Amino acid sequence: MNEKTTNTRTETPDFDAVVVGAGFGGLYAVHKLRDEQGLRVQAYDNASDVGGTWYWNRYPGALSDTESFCYRFSFDKEGLENARWKNRYLTQPEVLDYLNDVADRYDLRRSYQFHTKVTAAHFDESTQLWRVWTDKDQMVTAKYLVTGLGLLSATNKPPFDGMDTFKGEIIHTGAWPEGMDLSGQRVGVVGTGSTGVQVIIAMAETAEHLTVFQRSPQYVVPIGNWPESEEKIQEYKDNYDAIWDQVKSSAVAFGFEESTVPATSVSEEERERVFEEIWNKGGGFRFMFETFSDIATDQEANDAAANFIKRKIAQIVKDPETAKKLMPSDLYAKRPLCGNHYYEVYNRDNVSLEDVKADPISKFTENGILLESGKEIELDAIIFATGFDAVEGNYTRIDLQGRNDVTIQDKWKDGPLGYLGVMEADFPNFFMILGPNGPFTNLPPTIETQVEWISDAIAVTERNGHKTIEPKPEAQEAWVETCQSIADMTLFPKAQSWIFGANIPGKKNTVRFYMAGLGAYRQELQAVVDDNYSTLEFDN
Ligand code: FAD
Ligand code: NAP
Repeated sequence: MNEKTTNTRTETPDFDAVVVGAGFGGLYAVHKLRDEQGLRVQAYDNASDVGGTWYWNRYPGALSDTESFCYRFSFDKEGLENARWKNRYLTQPEVLDYLNDVADRYDLRRSYQFHTKVTAAHFDESTQLWRVWTDKDQMVTAKYLVTGLGLLSATNKPPFDGMDTFKGEIIHTGAWPEGMDLSGQRVGVVGTGSTGVQVIIAMAETAEHLTVFQRSPQYVVPIGNWPESEEKIQEYKDNYDAIWDQVKSSAVAFGFEESTVPATSVSEEERERVFEEIWNKGGGFRFMFETFSDIATDQEANDAAANFIKRKIAQIVKDPETAKKLMPSDLYAKRPLCGNHYYEVYNRDNVSLEDVKADPISKFTENGILLESGKEIELDAIIFATGFDAVEGNYTRIDLQGRNDVTIQDKWKDGPLGYLGVMEADFPNFFMILGPNGPFTNLPPTIETQVEWISDAIAVTERNGHKTIEPKPEAQEAWVETCQSIADMTLFPKAQSWIFGANIPGKKNTVRFYMAGLGAYRQELQAVVDDNYSTLEFDN
């Protein structure tokens, strides 16, 4: 281990660790640090209670697209033993109930101050402590700062002209007011990503009229959300350990074996057969990764999958003009989408589709949305399903300063960096859960992996009496390069989406994920431990 000395003064911190966030990440961090390591932990969330994503995203139709048996904590065996769920996927209230139940059983709420936003955090070199400020005019000190701010949590609300003149409700799906019911109203939805697809399917059933404002058509496969029997759930419980071993050693960690067969190695008939089989089984990640091994890496394989979905759109959508508008023309290389009977929605009389790439939104008016062509759509409510300032959004919204007053905004001005998705050079004793350049997967098993690694790193720092731990700049540089070179082997950087920061004007289009999968990532983390943390610097 590398050691260096600095002139510091001793100050007893208010807490050993401050944890920010009460989603999967923050909750598990509080449990590990407080209950297993005996640290004094203070946690914050600006929500009024636990849940994170599942607290904020209460829009109609909100659903996990990870299957129910593996959208949960693997450490919480007791939780699964007593668990019961209805369908193959969990609804937002079900995930929220689960996280509330975890918070109750592990008594996590007592460490949280809710309704509290962390506004600033500075590393004080003289005391080697973090100073953390909140919007409640508080300042506390702590040795460690552990953030679970969420990578899809900072809402993106494009500033359309005239928004303040609109008389009806404007609601972002990621800040959906509890109980907000738009049944019987004329509703507009802007955006057709994972969220848009879910809210469109749900709103079509209840709105008087639904207008979808689509900028980019998407590839959407069925989700296959059928009821899950007692026997099936018992089977998951009986095979608990084997299931989690498989999830954690796989690439996307969605609870299925990824295909090892390239689409380019089989006949067209065989491709069609496999695509049809998985289409009927349902699941976006399954369609991209269980069908063939090269959909996300090879243009020919990608075209084959894309063309299959386009043929389905043509078969399902009755009006040829609408079908044409729904037809994607780009790569099938954004975050895979799924939803039950999505394209069928456009056969309904109460649903219309506006192609706002061809005829962009000019402005919001008192009564609705005006397109550049002069067409005005009258609406009672407008739903923004416009996504998130993903990955770094909640970090750059905090006044976060590391050594030598370096700010995170400055450090990440050319795109976020991050070491192993959990640390940042120049930011000692600072740990991120789902920080930049972590794996692109079903997220709870990645969150657990990271929290466990963070907790071990803190334990090592404490055991050896170190004051600080941080990544060596050269190790971080090498990690970001590794992430970039792996991403370059895939088609993802060529598609315009939040995965590479392309969804928000002004954001740098750079690598934000380690695309080699959770199994390989876990090996990378283990290698650091086995090598006695030689890529990290400890200060005494
Ligand atoms: P979050 O759950 O986002 O929690 C972050 C918390 O930090 C929030 O409560 C926020 O209020 C708080 N916070 C942020 N900044 C501050 C601050 N400055 N001060 C105080 N508090 C702060 N992933 C999957 O793998 N499978 C799925 O099926 C899936 N479905 C999803 C569906 C939706 C609608 C969305 C939006 C995301 C979905 N995701 C899914 C991704 C999901 O975000 C993760 O699975 C997971 O819930 C992230 O947990 P987290 O604890 O890291 O962050
Ligand atoms: P998203 O994938 O970024 O989609 C945002 C949508 O809004 C896109 O259709 C985008 O169009 C559109 N948009 C953005 N700005 C616009 C503008 N100025 N004018 C018109 N349209 C605009 O966001 P999301 O749907 O919220 O999903 C984000 C991620 O959250 C998902 O990828 C997934 O990881 C997670 N999630 C998962 C589920 C699930 O199935 N369990 C559900 C919801 C969310 P362009 O494509 O043209 O940019």
